[in-house]
Amino acid sequence: MAETASDSAEPGRPNALPSAVASPGRRTFLRFAAAAGGASLLSSCSGSPGSSAAGGTTAARTAAGTAAGGTAGSAGSAAAGRTATASGPPSSADWAALAKDLSGSLVRPGEAGYTTARELFDPRFDSLHPAGVAYCRNPHDVATCLAFVRRYRLPVAARCGGHSYAGWSSTSGLIVDVTKMSGVSVSGGTATVGAGTRLIDFYNGLTAHGRAVPGGSCPTVGIAGLTLGGGVGVVSRAYGLTSDNVQSLQIVTADGQIRTCNASTNSDLFWACRGGGGGNFGVVTSFTFTTHPTGEIILFFLSWPWSQAARVISAWQSWAPHAPDELWSNLHLAAAPGGSVPSIQVGGTYIGSVGAAYAQLQRLYAAVGSDPSSPFLESTTWLHAMLVEAGCASLSVDQCHLPTQNPSGQFARSSEYAKSDFFTKPLSSHGIGVLLSGVESLQQVSGAPGGAGGIAFDAMGGAVNRVAPGATAYVHRDALFQAQYTTTWAVGSGAAGVARQHAWQRSFWQSMRPYASGQAYQNYVDPDLANWQQAYYGANYARLTQVKAAYDPDRVFTFPQAV
Ligand SMILES: Cc1cc2nc3c(=O)[nH]c(=O)nc-3n(C[C@H](O)[C@H](O)[C@H](O)COP(=O)(O)OP(=O)(O)OC[C@H]3O[C@@H](n4cnc5c(N)ncnc54)[C@H](O)[C@@H]3O)c2cc1C
Repeated sequence: MAETASDSAEPGRPNALPSAVASPGRRTFLRFAAAAGGASLLSSCSGSPGSSAAGGTTAARTAAGTAAGGTAGSAGSAAAGRTATASGPPSSADWAALAKDLSGSLVRPGEAGYTTARELFDPRFDSLHPAGVAYCRNPHDVATCLAFVRRYRLPVAARCGGHSYAGWSSTSGLIVDVTKMSGVSVSGGTATVGAGTRLIDFYNGLTAHGRAVPGGSCPTVGIAGLTLGGGVGVVSRAYGLTSDNVQSLQIVTADGQIRTCNASTNSDLFWACRGGGGGNFGVVTSFTFTTHPTGEIILFFLSWPWSQAARVISAWQSWAPHAPDELWSNLHLAAAPGGSVPSIQVGGTYIGSVGAAYAQLQRLYAAVGSDPSSPFLESTTWLHAMLVEAGCASLSVDQCHLPTQNPSGQFARSSEYAKSDFFTKPLSSHGIGVLLSGVESLQQVSGAPGGAGGIAFDAMGGAVNRVAPGATAYVHRDALFQAQYTTTWAVGSGAAGVARQHAWQRSFWQSMRPYASGQAYQNYVDPDLANWQQAYYGANYARLTQVKAAYDPDRVFTFPQAV
């Protein structure tokens, strides 16, 4: 049975649970020492006003029309599969005709709003200039766009939150933007969600009904890109990946057909869309998710001195992947070019009582052999927890957006290189030494202004690993933890410092080859990966190619690492 706070309090002992400062019916805050607030993210959203550079140690890091049946229809007479190919590129008149055919809007170079319309989240992709950006309002708009790109043989890319680490939601041709198809509609135990919904709006819409679906941390990440590649979040050990919670989805395939996919209808495409990666099989317009009840949730952030880092890593990797499902945590090691001592932090969530969370943390402290120097634990509402994890602890939901997304938005775009690994075995003491050296070596790099870097390990196990590797396209079901190597810099920094940070990251990742499984997370797309088919999809890749051949035989949807 779950303990209460008073059950656990042992005044007088170092790190004992102090009396809760409770505000009845509201949040309970427990500060074991000087509060070390901050967010511990799966992947940092460093554009957040609430986050700071590593080393400074804030580690934070409607819906589309529904289609009944297998195939709801196509774009009227312009069904892409039957569209004749034009002999040359589209003229201005052809583009104007496309704009007229859309319920949504089309933005072209030179038109008002083009500069914003072409932007992705990362300013390093601002050099990309699509020929058009279509803001689709419904699946028929998407089908109309697909007919157009087929007719003129134009490159096309689906775009939701624009967070692709390689910029693959942009193109020289037509961007099919789904963000006007957003919104959350909750009914009983399910939620139908427009494919253009951003994560913070997803959480806001769900928690208004007392429901939750596991998802990622960054508030401006799109539900479509996240879900199609898996979706790892702060309650994944309890409720699985985002994609594990999809009951059904609607997608417009390259032939212009609007298809419903679920366990019994288009089941092969349904399988592929749960982990097969964004941008491969069509443009998803809505998802229906299984939801879970929400209540208060515990957040915790724990720091140790860098001198204890080897012990913390060793303890964390034996504790985090094997903890009860209710406990999720990550381990973040961060440094800065030319910076002083790196930092190490464990952050996480617990679904349950403060006392039960505290008991779990005590097991970690015992394994480390010392209490954290800066412990923080808070019981809070689900929505506030998602805001904290997003790096928006002191912001409203409206403020937790880019200014281009919401007039109140205070979030900023930011730049980052990312690489990933999965680990199926604990790191040996030698591996831990290599890891520490890799982080420390960033201090010797002459980086860019505002430069930072590090590695964040996310605990796996629990519900994620109880799904068979072939049950959905997401194959990584045996990992103890996943790692993301990141490096960031101030927007507008000179290229040379950025390049040196990038070289550091690549070399660090290379040094970890003997210890990692060789798999990589398909949502952290990495253009460097030579054997990406195996790394992202393993034994599922062959089946993915069959689905691709069935639904997109002409490869209308393609990019450098497309199935
Ligand atoms: C700052 C940051 C934080 C992150 N945090 C997390 C995290 O906590 N957990 C996690 O699991 N991942 C995280 N990620 C990775 C994230 O899940 C992927 O980058 C994801 O692909 C982003 O989706 P998007 O819709 O925002 O991006 P986009 O760039 O819009 O899309 C990504 C890919 O999906 C395709 N796509 C987009 N919309 C559709 C659609 N409607 N139909 C079909 N294909 C589509 C695009 O063509 C592109 O190939 C993070 C990434 C960043 C940059």
